[in-house]
Amino acid sequence: MKRRIHIDLLLNSEAAADKVLTLILDKIAILDTFDVLTSGKIYGMLNLLQGSSTQTRFNNPLDADILRDFVVGLWTTGALASKILARSRIALHTCSHDEINIQPCIEDNVLVK
Ligand SMILES: [Zn+2]
Repeated sequence: MKRRIHIDLLLNSEAAADKVLTLILDKIAILDTFDVLTSGKIYGMLNLLQGSSTQTRFNNPLDADILRDFVVGLWTTGALASKILARSRIALHTCSHDEINIQPCIEDNVLVK
């Protein structure tokens, strides 16, 4: 079982999306990931670490919380907070997709700005 995080952020500009994506990827780079998928961004929406057929998971489940807290920090305080819009969403679940008996993905920690 691996801890998985799914981040969907709404940004008010493409420049803000680029900045947030860079910050998040820099943070991920220092965490203990099992696998990472970045599905990219479109204007006004940053889809990071998502995909129903792909998995983005952490070897250390605490690292998922660290990334969650980092993103909450971005949308709460600092220069980017006002650029990350309401309805931005972070969801976590414990993922069984690498197990023999795959269970449905059930989010157990969801934050919505
Ligand atoms: Zn899952």
